[in-house]
Amino acid sequence: MSINPDLGTHVALVTGASRGIGAAIALALAEAGASVAINYRQNSAEALAARIRSRGGRAIAVGADVSQATHVAAMIERVAAELGPIDVLVNNAGIGIARGIDDLSEADFDQTIAVNLKSVFLCTRAVLPAMRRRRWGRIVNISSGAARGAGGIGVHYNASKAGMEGLTRGYAARLVTEGITVNAVAPSLIETDMTSGRRDEVVARIPLGRMGYPQEVAQAVLMVIGNPYMTGQTVQLNGGTNFL
Ligand code: NAP
Repeated sequence: MSINPDLGTHVALVTGASRGIGAAIALALAEAGASVAINYRQNSAEALAARIRSRGGRAIAVGADVSQATHVAAMIERVAAELGPIDVLVNNAGIGIARGIDDLSEADFDQTIAVNLKSVFLCTRAVLPAMRRRRWGRIVNISSGAARGAGGIGVHYNASKAGMEGLTRGYAARLVTEGITVNAVAPSLIETDMTSGRRDEVVARIPLGRMGYPQEVAQAVLMVIGNPYMTGQTVQLNGGTNFL
């Protein structure tokens, strides 16, 4: 078994990969040899796909709102037609609408659950038939320290990520005999658009003294994908925050 996964024969889909953590994961998968479908909602990922292709990789950008079943079905069909059946899925798309207990609306709650949690069910359901036929698959869900801690976004976000980790363990237990692993990677406080504007406030809470980089999350995702014996787990990376 090689320590660094060789994904040369594999097709990966990363949701919400136009920027931030998802973009770093898409680049890392392409560097490991995978053909990569880069999903986005409104900020096109075409430039990122072109960058991967200019380095000799295979990549396409696919627009779809992953909280909508019809969008997900069309996305999976297009990726299969252009790159081949997906056998690596990274559920990364997410939103963080900051709200306190008193100003959290029903619409904010529903939207957060739809984008951060329901999308994981929709995308997983859509890719599983091809993974099961091949008896090989890797699913990595990008959770958050907020699945277990209070975090700074709100209770709706806590619930969406805790639910995602429930899906992770539930699918892992049911798919382990079919060669498919399902794990979560749970970062805290990574420098992206989602945390911009909160930098000074959050750095003070991180024992390491800095925020994490998207590439550090991507490295953990690659580690999980390369390990067939690990399933149903959550890998946390947070600069030592949970030692406090
Ligand atoms: P980000 O910079 O805000 O990027 C979010 C990405 O998700 C964008 O590519 C966005 O697409 C996409 N997206 C949002 N809604 C979507 C939808 N309905 N359908 C498809 N794509 C959608 O966020 P990030 O910081 O990289 O976060 C990525 C993931 O890591 C999220 O799940 C987040 O909860 C999690 N996370 C982040 C941190 C952190 O500190 N940054 C910590 C823990 C967990 P567009 O560009 O088209 O809008």
